[in-house]
Amino acid sequence: MNIIFFGPPGAGKGTQAKIIEDKYGLKQLSTGDMLRAEVSEGTELGLQAKEIMDRGELVSDEIVIGMIAARVDSPECSKGVIFDGFPRTEAQAAALDAMLVERGQKIDMVLELLVDDEALVARIEKRALEEGRSDDNIEALKNRLAQYRSYSAEVLPYYRAQGDVPAVDGMKPIDEVTAQIESIFASQEAA
Ligand code: AMP
Repeated sequence: MNIIFFGPPGAGKGTQAKIIEDKYGLKQLSTGDMLRAEVSEGTELGLQAKEIMDRGELVSDEIVIGMIAARVDSPECSKGVIFDGFPRTEAQAAALDAMLVERGQKIDMVLELLVDDEALVARIEKRALEEGRSDDNIEALKNRLAQYRSYSAEVLPYYRAQGDVPAVDGMKPIDEVTAQIESIFASQEAA
């Protein structure tokens, strides 16, 4: 089962993906996490990406598609993947579809986590204190929210044209959000 989680920064995509990953044996692939790992390892790719990420802009399609392609065949992805923060452009979405078709797979479910902007600001301020991420500051958040609005406006219609994109109320406590996601799984399996 391959799932895509959409949602603005701080919506809880990462938290929910980790819970679903553990329960269903799926593998979360977050291009943001992969890029941060490159940055902290000081690789050439990481050095290129850091400035772009700190500005809250998008890293090139080529880089992120390459990172995903390098991971989808690993044994940990054999039961399926939760894509988190990817795809962010129509070109990434088309490349992902092509990658899955080659493997006799597809995207089975696309979900959007919805959270109010005010709550996002509060969550990001908290995460900045706890994790010290260099892109967790209010100015970068505003850019990343604008980035989310713009990339979701590009990519969600691509998926809506293929089927339903259920919304999940991300304002609820973590376990209730998980319950909503699981009930969407159950309704899709029953369909
Ligand atoms: P995230 O943790 O998903 O918000 O990603 C952090 C930053 O990494 C983003 O603001 C972008 O600069 C970059 N990034 C992550 N995923 C992608 C992607 N799919 N396409 C382009 N840039 C990305």
